[in-house]
Amino acid sequence: ARHSDDAGVVVIGLGRFGYHLAGALARLDHEVLAIDRDPARVQRWSAELDRVVQADATEEVALRQLGVADFARVVVAIGASVEASVLTVLALTELGIPQIWARATSEKHAKILHSVGAHHVVFPEAETGERVAHLIVSRMLDFIEFGDDFAIAKVRVPAPLVGRALREVAPRDRYGVMVVGAKLPGEPFRYAGPDTVLAPESVLIVEGSITQVQRFAALT
Ligand code: ADP
Repeated sequence: ARHSDDAGVVVIGLGRFGYHLAGALARLDHEVLAIDRDPARVQRWSAELDRVVQADATEEVALRQLGVADFARVVVAIGASVEASVLTVLALTELGIPQIWARATSEKHAKILHSVGAHHVVFPEAETGERVAHLIVSRMLDFIEFGDDFAIAKVRVPAPLVGRALREVAPRDRYGVMVVGAKLPGEPFRYAGPDTVLAPESVLIVEGSITQVQRFAALT
């Protein structure tokens, strides 16, 4: 049956990005079929990943023979060669893969990937660069931006708010952000409520527009 392999993911290209991606998927208990055209790369990762095979992923026939058409999700992690990345996405489109994820290394590359049929395009260098910039200039511990001007951040309790209850802080009215959770070191995550007191050592999960989340994190 087609797309029987719903839990599995194919990762094509075992460079630095693809290797980390494949490893993370495996740790999340997903079956991973990893493909690279370089025999040395295949050899290198075959001890660490369950199924690593050598093939040129731009060849539709090769992909078919490997059973790639049975997978619902395929990630093209090739970065350096735009040509190989685009031709691979094209081959996957021909196979009718329902969820093609592709890595772009530039805006133009991203556009081409979309136009040949990629359903999701990720831009790891650009996304990580931007995220790390936010972490460096603010006191945020982590920051995820979703587009549409929405962000979730992990922040320390801003100094002026230490020791106060959320009811009194009224983050939504005063700062336009929602404090979703508060976590004390060594204790489980708890959803924040009006009675949650912002302890100095707490870590908060805060959501809202990018600017408002940043302002909240930077309160002095
Ligand atoms: P990174 O920046 O993550 O290290 P690279 O673009 O340098 O990524 O690595 C891409 C990987 O994709 C390499 O291991 C390369 O052998 C592999 N690759 C490139 N073209 C193909 C292809 N046509 N089929 C399969 N694997 C490929």
